[in-house]
Amino acid sequence: LEISEIGEFELINKFANTKKNSVPQGFLGIGDDCAVIPKDDNNSFLVTTDMLIEDIHFIRNRIDPVDLGFKSLAVNVSDIAGMGGIPVASFVSLSLPGDLSVEWVENFYRGYNELGALENVHLLGGDTTGSKMSIAISITVLGEISNDKIKYRSNARPGDLICVTDKLGDSSAGLKVVLDELEENELNQYLLSRHVRPYPHVKKGSMLSRFPGVTSMMDISDGIGSDFKHIANLSGVDGVFHLEKIPVTQPLIDFCKQYNYNLYDMAIYGGEDYSLLFTLSPCSYELIDKAYEEAFGEHIHVIGEVTEKQDKNRNRISFKTEKGVIDMSEGSFNHFRKRN
Ligand code: ADP
Ligand code: MG
Repeated sequence: LEISEIGEFELINKFANTKKNSVPQGFLGIGDDCAVIPKDDNNSFLVTTDMLIEDIHFIRNRIDPVDLGFKSLAVNVSDIAGMGGIPVASFVSLSLPGDLSVEWVENFYRGYNELGALENVHLLGGDTTGSKMSIAISITVLGEISNDKIKYRSNARPGDLICVTDKLGDSSAGLKVVLDELEENELNQYLLSRHVRPYPHVKKGSMLSRFPGVTSMMDISDGIGSDFKHIANLSGVDGVFHLEKIPVTQPLIDFCKQYNYNLYDMAIYGGEDYSLLFTLSPCSYELIDKAYEEAFGEHIHVIGEVTEKQDKNRNRISFKTEKGVIDMSEGSFNHFRKRN
């Protein structure tokens, strides 16, 4: 059996929940955006780690190393935001081919430190090794949170509203600009910047985590179609998205028209948005939306609702449109999928 046949998540499941790696009381191990480690009676550390590999996550001569440094830290900080925490420190390990310029590495750190300064994340260490061919970047971020604020993927309840903290799909359009080498006009530049410089939603995550009415939360890395499956799975629920309520930007609408891409495909399965997906008890909606609007000058985007689990063997995710309900449980980015 090849790993390409089962995919990333089934592979993780194989070693995730065995008796051999059960975790101590108060800890949380594999399965959420971060691991949780008790700090004292009332607070915990959050730890997350993510890799970025050349030709899988980026193409060396098509991303400015400053942007790559910024993005590498951003995608890790985003996982801290996904649980409601505040990032504190980071570690960065680089595997670099010998012919890479020193300037490239300096620029990488320029972007990395730019976000570090903005979000107060201190670089505390890492590792550096050689590489035969490609660049590999592995980053670990440590965060903090008070225990009563931690938002897991596992507590969504039927009747909850499904919400997001930003418009979706710009980043995946930006990826098309890179891969298809599209002209860099103003529209494409905007989408590209959304792809190479995602800004992690730490402030929104931390604000939302104050409310018990927020029942589950995670960051959006693979697209809500795939990411909501994790919430559904761990919470034992189904979900319905209202297609017409999925928020998208005007540039994305224009882009999809111009290059003939499916708008909702981009917004739902595109990935790399790095905003937040969360569920909200409907009776807290008014209170939380009001506080959210006061803090951020915009409303929460409600895109669907959590429903009772129908089928014992799987979590059903469907899409309601004006034309009816479509079951769309399949389709998402799979790291091991073979490409033609
Ligand atoms: P995210 O996209 O939020 O970073 P991932 O999909 O990468 O989350 O990982 C899901 C969960 O599986 C996380 O808890 C992560 O720590 C864990 N995980 C991923 N890969 C491994 C691995 N090789 N060994 C142990 N745990 C892993
Ligand atoms: Mg995540």
